[in-house]
Amino acid sequence: MNLILLGAPGAGKGTQAEQISEREGIPAISTGQILRNAMRSGSELGLTAKQYVESGALVPDDIVIGIIREYLESDECRHGFVLDGFPRTIAQAEALKRLGIKIDAVLTIEVPDEKIVSRMSGRRFCECGASYHTDFLPPKVEGICDRCGKELYIRDDDKPETVLSRLETYHRQTEPLIGYYRGEGLLITVEGQERVEDTTELVRQALMNGTENKQ
Ligand code: ADP
Ligand code: ZN
Repeated sequence: MNLILLGAPGAGKGTQAEQISEREGIPAISTGQILRNAMRSGSELGLTAKQYVESGALVPDDIVIGIIREYLESDECRHGFVLDGFPRTIAQAEALKRLGIKIDAVLTIEVPDEKIVSRMSGRRFCECGASYHTDFLPPKVEGICDRCGKELYIRDDDKPETVLSRLETYHRQTEPLIGYYRGEGLLITVEGQERVEDTTELVRQALMNGTENKQ
């Protein structure tokens, strides 16, 4: 299954991407996570990305398209993948299309803006790609990743000021993708729930039922 996840920052894409990845045995590819790991390692990519990420803007299309192409053409993605955070602009969607990889479905997780801002404050991340929330998805041991035992960190761009500009970026640059993929007959919409396991269940059912066109 080749799947794309859409949704505002903090809608729960990353959490659902990891769960789908485990259930289906396919890799979850998060451009945000790739960029954060590059920033933490201080690589050239990280240094370039930092200025954009920390202001809540998008990293230029050619950079992320280059990263994604390398992943999607690797052996690891032969049996499918979940894209979390890519595409984020129409230009990225067009570039993905040009790669000639067939997409089976695009799942969008809808959460109202008011809820997003308050959710962000409890988020915790691990370098391995796992993410947690102090209230909604706490790790077994505070501050430590369940999956790999590393120390969790708080993202610099989860500060309230940056969250507002990320939301604005989302509405302006990413939300048009919903219409774009609806037009392609690939869209599936799920309403993000208060409890993670409820969203997980809705996502599972939605993926079984398929795209809007088939219903
Ligand atoms: P969230 O969905 O919570 O906003 P992500 O981890 O997906 O977070 O992304 C964090 C940041 O990384 C974005 O605000 C943006 O600056 C950058 N980024 C991630 N994916 C892309 C992309 N496909 N194109 C451009 N920038 C990206
Ligand atoms: Zn971890």
